[in-house]
Amino acid sequence: MKIPDIIIAVDGCSSTGKSTFAKMVAQAFGFLYLDSGAMYRGVTLYAMENGLIGPEGEIDEAALKAVIGGLDLYFGEGGLHLGERCIEKEIRTLEVSSHVSPVSAIGFVREFVDSKLHAFSEGGRVIMDGRDIGTTVFPNAQLKIFMTATDQVRAQRRYDEMIAKGETPTFEEVLANLRERDYIDSHREVSPLTQAPDAFVLDNTEMTLHEELVWIQGLIQGRFGILC
Ligand code: C5P
Repeated sequence: MKIPDIIIAVDGCSSTGKSTFAKMVAQAFGFLYLDSGAMYRGVTLYAMENGLIGPEGEIDEAALKAVIGGLDLYFGEGGLHLGERCIEKEIRTLEVSSHVSPVSAIGFVREFVDSKLHAFSEGGRVIMDGRDIGTTVFPNAQLKIFMTATDQVRAQRRYDEMIAKGETPTFEEVLANLRERDYIDSHREVSPLTQAPDAFVLDNTEMTLHEELVWIQGLIQGRFGILC
């Protein structure tokens, strides 16, 4: 397996703005951006659409295990694809969000996603966001960021995003979903969400995107000597 020349790992709770931040850094510094959460969402959407998640949220793990190796999930034009189909929009619904944490707590699901993420990031310069990138997927990442913000601010951002996309959740539903995901993600047995001891903490509760960029510029320049 060929590892990336440079990997920046961005981890943190739900809706801390990891993907917006990581995309901005990727664009500014010419890195490939990989969204690991999208992969878990893709597996979840597949399970939902194929009757592998029951009405009470119960997951047919045996059936999922039998098919997961054949799932053709990859990042293409417009975002995540499942085979020929772009599923970027479908994986962002509250319904997928409400099932994704139990699905991503399953060991063989994590093994599947990890192997895809390693394959996607062969060579080059990569910035990847998720929950366990700096602890499990790339524990040797040269730069690790752990993002935080208050849950009220995180829920408000996610709520605004969903409303802008034409969805109609209530603020309380969005807040409850992110608290539930945080709980499951940080209490699961396999690769729970934790801050890597060598991660730099970025609390963006009161920061603008531009301030976040200025903050990371100093770190990237200091560590890799790269200017944007
Ligand atoms: O980042 P995003 O909120 O889209 O991730 C969706 C879900 O995927 C998370 O709530 C978490 O359950 C799971 N996830 C994970 N490990 C990662 C990335 C995401 O378990 N590295």
